[in-house]
Amino acid sequence: MSRTPLIVGNWKMNKTIKETKDFCLRLKNELTAQKNGPVEVAVAPPFTALAAAAEAFLGSTIAVAAQDVFWAESGAFTGEISPPLLADAGCRYAVIGHSERRQYFGENDESVNKKAAALMKAGLIPILCLGESLKERQGGLAFSVVERQTREGLKDLGVKNPADLIIAYEPVWAIGTGQTATPQQAQEIQAFLRKLLRELFSPAMAQGVRILYGGSVKPDNSAELMAMEDVDGALVGGASLDVQFFVEIVQGARTKKK
Ligand code: PEP
Repeated sequence: MSRTPLIVGNWKMNKTIKETKDFCLRLKNELTAQKNGPVEVAVAPPFTALAAAAEAFLGSTIAVAAQDVFWAESGAFTGEISPPLLADAGCRYAVIGHSERRQYFGENDESVNKKAAALMKAGLIPILCLGESLKERQGGLAFSVVERQTREGLKDLGVKNPADLIIAYEPVWAIGTGQTATPQQAQEIQAFLRKLLRELFSPAMAQGVRILYGGSVKPDNSAELMAMEDVDGALVGGASLDVQFFVEIVQGARTKKK
């Protein structure tokens, strides 16, 4: 089964509503002009600009992702945003377990698991981020850390359709540092994750779930990362804020051999 590459731009805490509209309309225009293989594209603006992005993308296949979510459907949870509210704003995906949320906001495997279940219940697709810190890598723990994050994050989720789940391997030491994992480092972890999906779900799930790489992806390194067998796209932070860089990364993914 071939996996259509997916490129997601994580804007973090950047861009106003006006900047979002301008970016998204330009992106829509530029991507319409691109040729070659199919690629799916999404951007993850701040909550305040989700609806503006969704409106700007009308008439295109570009999707909108949230950067986080809370697991309850509604109620007295001041400041939180539920999966139905994200769906209402026009989201298809939500990023969960991003290392910045784990590091600064107390996100852990248990909360990630609750968020994944709640998103799926609302018909949204979780983009589950996981990855080891530099200390963990240097201590030889990279595989055991990503295994734990995957097992715990996906615990008791009866996912059957590979399209309903995205995983993003993001080594913490590569996020926002300019230090990218080598294509081989990304490949060996991502092949390992795919094997784990086989054990946790089924051969069809392992074969079909897209596993993205994230961590200082730029136009000049994306093609070599994307060429790896188990790298099915990218979660792009800093470089996704520049429409031209982002478009070049998408263009690079169009050359990926299936
Ligand atoms: C991210 O925030 O998910 C990310 C990968 O950031 P950057 O591309 O800037 O390293």
